Amino acid sequence: MQMQTHWVDGHVDLAYIALGGRDILQKCTARQDECISIPDLNKGHVKTIAGTIYTSPEDHILGYKKDDSNDAFLQGKKQLDLYLDLHKQGHIQLLHAKQLVNNSSSLEVLLLMEGADPIRNIDDVSWWYNRGLRIVGLTWSTGTRYAGGNDCTHGLTDEGKALVQTLDAHDMLHDASHLSVQSFEDLVSCTDRVIIASHSNSRNVLQSDSQRNLLDEQAKEIFKRGGVIGLNLCTMFLSKTFSDTSQTATIDDCVEHIFHLCDLAGNRNQIALGSDFDGGFTPKHLPIGLKHPSQLPYLLDRLQEQGFDENELHSFAHGAWERLYENQFSGVQNQPV
Ligand SMILES: [Zn+2]
Repeated sequence: MQMQTHWVDGHVDLAYIALGGRDILQKCTARQDECISIPDLNKGHVKTIAGTIYTSPEDHILGYKKDDSNDAFLQGKKQLDLYLDLHKQGHIQLLHAKQLVNNSSSLEVLLLMEGADPIRNIDDVSWWYNRGLRIVGLTWSTGTRYAGGNDCTHGLTDEGKALVQTLDAHDMLHDASHLSVQSFEDLVSCTDRVIIASHSNSRNVLQSDSQRNLLDEQAKEIFKRGGVIGLNLCTMFLSKTFSDTSQTATIDDCVEHIFHLCDLAGNRNQIALGSDFDGGFTPKHLPIGLKHPSQLPYLLDRLQEQGFDENELHSFAHGAWERLYENQFSGVQNQPV
């Protein structure tokens, strides 16, 4: 029997999807090409998402001139403004600080920056914080002024190290997804705070050399600090046999990543969902049987068959992120939207 529960998704590029031209207030109709809109998230009982402000110099929608921090700021602000408008119109509830655990009926969104170039300098951190930003990943794959990404070999720059200190002073969460191995090491030595990976899987399970997913030692460091890892549902990061001609992954692939990560954690309370639904890939690249948020309960069914108890299932669906957000942010002074 399918368990009824709500979900918290640790990584959804909602603004990116909207600025790419989709009407996110309407249900998706071309289901082979898209699965994310506010009604589709509601249908899947996704109550809360970490909604991204994603930028990269190369992106065709939200690109900016490399090394031009003002241009990057404007691209990031465009996404922030979109979230603020959705909030004002009542379509979403932007969450920050003491509003984190509430019972709003609209989709709750906690802001996560994926690629920190829109933070022009450390003096900008308060500006972003005051508008709700609570989680920051220093870079996307190709690197920023602050850090090398998973397509790079270098680590944090001096500006990046200074930014980490300022993020800590604001009690922001660090997101390690997309960091190069060197950047991860540098981050770990710059801060003793909680680190998460909002949308990354196990490199060991994938038997891959790509820095995009987590080494066992990296996952252990995240768990040791009380962080959470969000399972990415992109086939490329799930299936050991992924190729452009064979794009399928299965729910069993998801379960294998989850169990491996739980073994590293020594518990089943620090793994959750970080779907990345429609984040630069289509449902064709989602696992068989998980092509839409409403199909997420099938993943719980399989975890239950494999021995997850009810508390562990609730933790995966929502509890792990909720506990973390509450612990991290509940004592922080609330700010107006
Ligand atoms: Zn990403």
